[in-house]
Amino acid sequence: MATTIMLVEDEHGLADSIATELGFLNYQVVKAYDGQQALDTFNDQATDIDLIILDWMLPKVDGFSVLKRIRRVSQVPIIMLTARTYIGDKVAGLTGGADDYITKPFEMEELIARIDVALRHGKQNQTAKQAATGEVKTVGDLKIDLAAKQVSRHGQIIALTQREYELLVALLQNVDRPCSRDELLDHVWGTAFDGQPNILDVYIRQLRAKIDADPHDLRLIHTVRGTGYMLSANVRP
Ligand code: CA
Repeated sequence: MATTIMLVEDEHGLADSIATELGFLNYQVVKAYDGQQALDTFNDQATDIDLIILDWMLPKVDGFSVLKRIRRVSQVPIIMLTARTYIGDKVAGLTGGADDYITKPFEMEELIARIDVALRHGKQNQTAKQAATGEVKTVGDLKIDLAAKQVSRHGQIIALTQREYELLVALLQNVDRPCSRDELLDHVWGTAFDGQPNILDVYIRQLRAKIDADPHDLRLIHTVRGTGYMLSANVRP
């Protein structure tokens, strides 16, 4: 499968020449020309994007804000690009979650070398994370296969939308512990959240209709008054 790189750069000429070079190396390149477009594109294609090259100075939403917002929801490797040479920015970029930092003007070879390194680190982190979290989780008779992104109850596969699945995973990461509404909104909607918190209740209702549909089953998704929601097989009615 091709490695996909999202390239966020408002200088069209530079963006085109980087994209052409990366194309020669068989990378698939998705371009965004401003910060908002970057967030929208990431939101639509997050699962396909393997690495982000992100310019610092961007119209609409600046690169640093894009970095912070993506980091709230994803550990995808990010290399920051900038014309600035101030050490302060470098520190801010790295503490804001960038994996690497490259100052304009740069040689294409240098960018390519850094992309290689960042992708390798990204893969190592992912493998370590998968090993640490295990691939199949169970909560009561609910089974969640994280590698296959497949959910089943009593062996019956339950079809979930991408958002419903992400919401379930957010609950799963805190199993037996109440999740605040903010935590859930952040995890599932993050960069795309448009300020309507009741969207969470809508999705919880949908998720319950699929997972807790059978009245004879133990309920797994619980409302925690004043806090949010909790996934647990240890709450008796
Ligand atoms: Ca720029």
